[in-house]
Amino acid sequence: MRDETLLIDHARYVVTLDGERRIVRDGSILVEAGRIRRVGKAAELADVRADRVIDARHLLVTPGLVNGHLHVSYAHAVRGIFPDDLGSPLAHVFKLQMAMTEEEEYHTTLLGLVELLKNGTVCFVDPGSTKFPDACLQAYEEAGIRVVLGECVSDREAPFPLPRYEATEAIARTAAFLERWHGRLDGRIRAWAMPFSPETCSADLLRGVKRVADERGTGLTLHHGSGPAARRESLARHGLTPTAYLESLGVLGPNVLLSHALGLDDGEIECLARTSTAVAMCPVMAAKAGRGVPVHGRMPELLQKGVRVALGTDSPNNSNHVDLVRAMNMAAIQYKDARQDLSQIPAETALELATLRGAQALGLGDELGSIEPGKRADLVLFDTQRPEWQALFNPINNLVYNADGRSVHTVVVDGRVVVDAYRQTFVDEARLFARVQEIGERLQARTGVRFPPSRWPIV
Ligand SMILES: [Zn+2]
Repeated sequence: MRDETLLIDHARYVVTLDGERRIVRDGSILVEAGRIRRVGKAAELADVRADRVIDARHLLVTPGLVNGHLHVSYAHAVRGIFPDDLGSPLAHVFKLQMAMTEEEEYHTTLLGLVELLKNGTVCFVDPGSTKFPDACLQAYEEAGIRVVLGECVSDREAPFPLPRYEATEAIARTAAFLERWHGRLDGRIRAWAMPFSPETCSADLLRGVKRVADERGTGLTLHHGSGPAARRESLARHGLTPTAYLESLGVLGPNVLLSHALGLDDGEIECLARTSTAVAMCPVMAAKAGRGVPVHGRMPELLQKGVRVALGTDSPNNSNHVDLVRAMNMAAIQYKDARQDLSQIPAETALELATLRGAQALGLGDELGSIEPGKRADLVLFDTQRPEWQALFNPINNLVYNADGRSVHTVVVDGRVVVDAYRQTFVDEARLFARVQEIGERLQARTGVRFPPSRWPIV
């Protein structure tokens, strides 16, 4: 239940992300019917009465964090089972994902949502990994989170077991999915077209689902065939770079979000800028998977050309965490090191990527991403009474370089308090953790996807 009016009072800092990027010291925020009504100095809101008042004297408030690429589904049940030198785990990933039962996916998803919200993420794009959206709807409803959902489709042979259909069926399924899901839960659910990748989908399928997304006024996301191997394949097959190939099909545009987007050349960056296509980059996953960010990471150039960029974490079995504060940190430090240039991705830009720029990349910049009157009341309150926040003079530096998601104290989505003084309000965590551990054991036994539990003896 949400209170009709909520006052966040005397916050130590409110990081507004407004047009002037004001950081209000001793700030207050009035929320009414799920939207931000007023923001200002606490003294200016001193006359306000509200159904609930949160004393925010030790808290720093930011807009809710937005994750542009996160496969929720199965991964929480078997997190960390892949050895860190495995190479591509995709064959195992899809085997595990396809073996989930409805009840299992509900629980693993719910655990994913607990972790996301407790680390400050209020909105995420699940790139088509949910197998049982009906069961997961219940989890989304209980958690109160925002999600961009879709059905993963492909129509070509792939080296891993993707959901594969004839192109016409894939397009029809996508249309039916959008029809059924878009706008549910008071608009907190958005449904997008989700073809897996250009390598696994024919030109007909890609064009068809883009048309469906355009007709419905919704979005499309796909894994962008990037990096040297994808480039070689695309040039050999189409005579075009991966991005130019998508443009030739008409599958770029303001409602398209390409994930990962590593290894882009200058022409491809121009192409994304020209077509107003957005990208979701996963800095932690890229580093952990050895994707060569120093060579292939072009985030600074994308930002320079005005391309909308979101941060993602990818699957909990890739990054392996879903903490966007850590992703901000990685984005900020990765490019300084890669370029040996300290002006790359300042802390403020990293915070924008996880908030306003992320919301804009998802086409939700008018509703989310900053603390301004009229916007949805999606807020994260960080606890500055923790050792890693001392001493506090430059709040953005402290947030991006010192802190991580564990200092998230309270989270508000659509005006509803979903994490309240470190406690989420919708599920019994101890029971959920035990259930997911059991699901992980059963899933490994059922699929035969097992790895030695440790390189060191567990005695
Ligand atoms: Zn992905």
